[in-house]
Amino acid sequence: MNKIKVTMRFSANDITIPVTYHLVKDYDLMVNILNADISLNKIGTLVADLAGEQENIEQGLEFIRGLGVDVRIFNKNIIWEADKCIHCGACTAVCPSGALVMDKTDWSLTFDREKCLICGLCVKACPINVMNITDNGE
Ligand code: SF4
Ligand code: SF4
Repeated sequence: MNKIKVTMRFSANDITIPVTYHLVKDYDLMVNILNADISLNKIGTLVADLAGEQENIEQGLEFIRGLGVDVRIFNKNIIWEADKCIHCGACTAVCPSGALVMDKTDWSLTFDREKCLICGLCVKACPINVMNITDNGE
């Protein structure tokens, strides 16, 4: 099974298309919505993980693009050098998805990669540069 992270931008006209329903039902994909900014009569954005057989992922993406939806695959990754982190918490204040939170038992930083939107805000916020953004595979 493969997994990719994508961002989909819908025009105001396409906002009512049940894209996730079709990806699940017609292409046997698991869709984990990470962030959604969608309302009627405006451009909408959906960030999601898509998991399934590679062939199904490719066909699902083709289907979405065929609808006129702008689909981008994330090709970046966030690297946290946990051993150098001083757990100051500065990055948690800017993280929009809750991927970075302080563990309230010992006030250490925890990073939930599944929730990460790869926005890069933590990279700029970290005072000692232990958050980095890289191309996948590096
Ligand atoms: S890149 Fe950093 S700030 Fe952005 S969602 Fe991921 S962990 Fe949070
Ligand atoms: S800002 Fe940097 S040093 Fe501070 S908790 Fe986050 S990763 Fe660790």
